[in-house]
Amino acid sequence: MGGSGAVSEHTCAVHARALGELPFEDRQDFEDAARGQIATTDGLVVRDAKGRVVWDMDAYAFIAADAEAPDTVHPSLWRMAQLNNIHGLFEVVPGVYQVRGYDLSNMTLVEGREGVIVIDPLISKECASAALALYRAHRGERRVSAVLYSHSHVDHFGGVKGVVSEQDVRAGKIPIWAPAHFLEHAVTENVLAGTAMGRRASYMFAPGLPRGPRGQVDAGIGKTTSSGSITLIPPTHEVSRTGQEEEIDGVRFVFQLVPDSEAPAEMNFHLPDLRTLCVAENAVNCMHNVLTPRGAIVRDALRWSKYLGEAVELFGEETDTMFAQHHWPHWGKEGVLEHLERHRDMYRYLHDQTLRLANRGLTPTEIAAEVELPPSLARTWACRGHYGTVSHNVRAVYQRYLGFFDGNPAHLDPLPPVQAAQHYVQLAGGIEPLLANVREALERGEYRWAAELCSHAVFAEPDDRYARELHAQALEQLGYQSESAVWRNLYLVGAHELREGPPLTPGRGRRVASTDVAKALSIEQLWDAMGARVDGPRAWDSEIVIAWHFTDVGERWTVSMRHGVLNTLAGRLAENAHATVTLTRVAFDAILLGEGDLGELFAGGAISIEGDGAKLGELLGLLDEGDPAFAIVTP
Ligand SMILES: [Zn+2]
Repeated sequence: MGGSGAVSEHTCAVHARALGELPFEDRQDFEDAARGQIATTDGLVVRDAKGRVVWDMDAYAFIAADAEAPDTVHPSLWRMAQLNNIHGLFEVVPGVYQVRGYDLSNMTLVEGREGVIVIDPLISKECASAALALYRAHRGERRVSAVLYSHSHVDHFGGVKGVVSEQDVRAGKIPIWAPAHFLEHAVTENVLAGTAMGRRASYMFAPGLPRGPRGQVDAGIGKTTSSGSITLIPPTHEVSRTGQEEEIDGVRFVFQLVPDSEAPAEMNFHLPDLRTLCVAENAVNCMHNVLTPRGAIVRDALRWSKYLGEAVELFGEETDTMFAQHHWPHWGKEGVLEHLERHRDMYRYLHDQTLRLANRGLTPTEIAAEVELPPSLARTWACRGHYGTVSHNVRAVYQRYLGFFDGNPAHLDPLPPVQAAQHYVQLAGGIEPLLANVREALERGEYRWAAELCSHAVFAEPDDRYARELHAQALEQLGYQSESAVWRNLYLVGAHELREGPPLTPGRGRRVASTDVAKALSIEQLWDAMGARVDGPRAWDSEIVIAWHFTDVGERWTVSMRHGVLNTLAGRLAENAHATVTLTRVAFDAILLGEGDLGELFAGGAISIEGDGAKLGELLGLLDEGDPAFAIVTP
């Protein structure tokens, strides 16, 4: 055991085994990732209007193209980190271009009759604007003639205001196409559980961890998430069925609607005249997540697999080139079909084998220990677990069908972590003997066991710096051994926070999401989000009825608090309300986003209250703020 930051012999052995087992001599991906490169930017750094860095590829310059993996990075992950370092403007086929490495995701540009169609404008408006500028510098000053959102995740729409203005879209000059139910899912996925997801995402993508061989090197499907302005313009045109054909700026698109695949609202599309297929995020060049570790509603691996089979059937014969909205494309019909069929079979295998074993009585952790992909898939680079892993994906399938409970009554009502930890420490004869066991486990290279023991030590004695250091060392070796970029990030952020503590909680003024995303929520969704913030016990005895009249959108609501619950009724102003609030949606947004001064809004007449205004104050006082920096590796 080499102490803080140093790599152990056991970790080196794991890396050596991977080097022996995996087909590192196969360099096709490096050829494909560089194929068609038109331009690149040395020292790529994107800043916002205030000069703050929101995207920094320069920080990854230590991942040299020809360098062997350092002993602190799994060689397969290092290889992916090298591939994801290849950035710039690329030709997919004449008329179709991609900007890669300007954010977590790709921006695809399809040249039309009049202008250029932008597919997926990245996470931040600053990155999207820089990507479009790179394209224009090499392909001419084409105007953006349409935008497509392939699916409802923020890395596929957040930068839209960097490529088009809302005014032009509203004026009908630029259509925005998206799959059915896009807006609903784009705004809800990050709202009800948004604070928890945001905190967990900071472990998964590790934007705050230093870049370097001992820190963050990659995120599996790209380098990391950019941190500029997240924007949203609601779509104007909807794709509602498979087989829907549209001509957009003179280019023929045939859509395949794939809801509940990698995202709740998602679509693939085929460009028949270019014999080119886009599979959105359903078949990237590594294994994806059936359940993302940041947390989400679990995805449907069975439907996901069937959609890929359907894509082969619908488009396979007329496809020579395939690209996705992360990673690099595939060229040649045979290679495209092989890629799609492998991904189809990978998700299906995870699904079917989980259920087979569950039906034999195996529980999630047992299934995770048992399932491995067939060698024909496991030895394919594009099926490696650089993002999703077999281990957490099979547990996700179990969760979808059978839930969090593994069926063993001993696990039905477990003690909470601190209580359990205190009992384990007592059982061990005190913190000293327990830590002696941890040290021995570290010596033997049993890091999972060391982490489990040490987590009990830290939860029982959170101020014991030595316990925290040993725990950090166990997590660090697990991070160095991880082939998955997100597992590495999770372990290394955990180690970092054990040593340095969690980040300071940002000041009050809670923001559920970006301004654009919040404004796109329906009033009902806003009430739902408010309901999930009610501090139950403090509200047990409150009885409040408030009527709300939104004059600009013509909506009437009655919101009542009883039994610690916020109930809402649309279309009615209750006669027995304690107070009636008359306001505009615009003013409501300003209050929720902390943008407006309440006094000024009242003085200016944007809000008025009839009846007992103190009741409104009482209601707002019962809302919890959430904690965007809550502790994870400590109690
Ligand atoms: Zn994505």
